[in-house]
Amino acid sequence: MRYCMTTTIYEGDGIVSQSENRLKRLGGKALIVTGKTSAQKCGALDDVVAVLKKAGIDYQIFDDVKANPPIKQAYDGAIKGAGSDFVIGIGGGSPMDTAKGIAILLKHGVDDYVEKLFGSKDYDALPVVAVPTTSGTGSEVTPYSVFTDEEKGTKVSMARRVFPIYALVDIKYFTTMPLAVRNSTIMDALSHAIESYINTKANDYSELFALKTIELFGRHKDELFEQTMELTSLQDFVRASSFAGIAISQTGTSLPHAFGYPVTFQYGLPHGMANVTFMEEYLKICPKQKSDMVLKTAGFDSIASLGQYMKKLIALTNEKLTVTNEDIQKYTDLLVANKAKLQNHPLEVTREQVEQVYKNALL
Ligand code: NAP
Ligand code: FE
Repeated sequence: MRYCMTTTIYEGDGIVSQSENRLKRLGGKALIVTGKTSAQKCGALDDVVAVLKKAGIDYQIFDDVKANPPIKQAYDGAIKGAGSDFVIGIGGGSPMDTAKGIAILLKHGVDDYVEKLFGSKDYDALPVVAVPTTSGTGSEVTPYSVFTDEEKGTKVSMARRVFPIYALVDIKYFTTMPLAVRNSTIMDALSHAIESYINTKANDYSELFALKTIELFGRHKDELFEQTMELTSLQDFVRASSFAGIAISQTGTSLPHAFGYPVTFQYGLPHGMANVTFMEEYLKICPKQKSDMVLKTAGFDSIASLGQYMKKLIALTNEKLTVTNEDIQKYTDLLVANKAKLQNHPLEVTREQVEQVYKNALL
């Protein structure tokens, strides 16, 4: 059995401002990595800039990260951050994941960057500090990094493992999430927990974090239909997303993530919503004892009632997709080729089953 989590989490009001000495130890120059506007809007960017100035740390800002970032963004960020000693990713999974890729290229150079991030030879990274602002990916505590491969038409996980050295978590950065981002990221955390719990690599440690996440979701699940959420509930979801991140750090994710990747690529369906689009059909092809435990812990009396909940939640923020039979054949090919995700599923899955899941969930 193995349990590995090397990130130190510091959580609390004003935690970034209190991190001057912590950051000073990482070097004299930082690269800040963010998306276009949210890091500014939620106050995290100003707090990071202020603490770096106070600590006398020089910095550059790369604020070009798009949602579901193309691989090239790691290259662009590394060019911008040349000479940095460490990288600070602020935002949702997209900037935090990109920060990890950039940290490898800053250490080892940008030539052959695709090979360095995805090839078989291992490369380590400069230290990464993660400041999360969405309640879903858990990227602040996972070693993973997901990019969009525009040639393959899907999303791909970086081959290198980069745990952030610090996760600096302040609840106020999450309060600016619009309902669509909040709900989609909570669905991402929930799917991490379920896919980690029902996983060939699951062990007593990962199950502890996975079931706690599912329990917290079950406690607050009706509140996802409200425009604004009590701060105490949001706090539970923020913590749950880190718990689920710790769980998948041990096991990886499984089929709902693999089902969702090409749909996000083609139709832009947000990552978390893409995962749970397949949750009902996925649970039907899982070991019954495990899916029963998920349902019980989340407070659903059947797979069908979980399915109804998901449909209602998705309809709150997303249009129904018009997917073709041809799309489904393409998605099925991609999933059948995704050996890493298939290996994490405890039962054998046939091509016919994969195709049927896609048809039942999307047509
Ligand atoms: P995201 O793609 O990082 O951000 C989605 C949107 O939310 C962006 O428009 C962003 O704006 C906005 N946003 C972020 N924080 C906000 C805030 N506090 N207030 C208002 N708006 C905010 O979303 P995500 O779902 O967190 O990350 C998804 C990515 O993570 C995917 O690529 C997924 O595959 C990956 N992922 C990674 C892991 C992992 O372990 N590393 C696990 C699961 C998923 P800006 O663009 O302005 O920032
Ligand atoms: Fe995810």
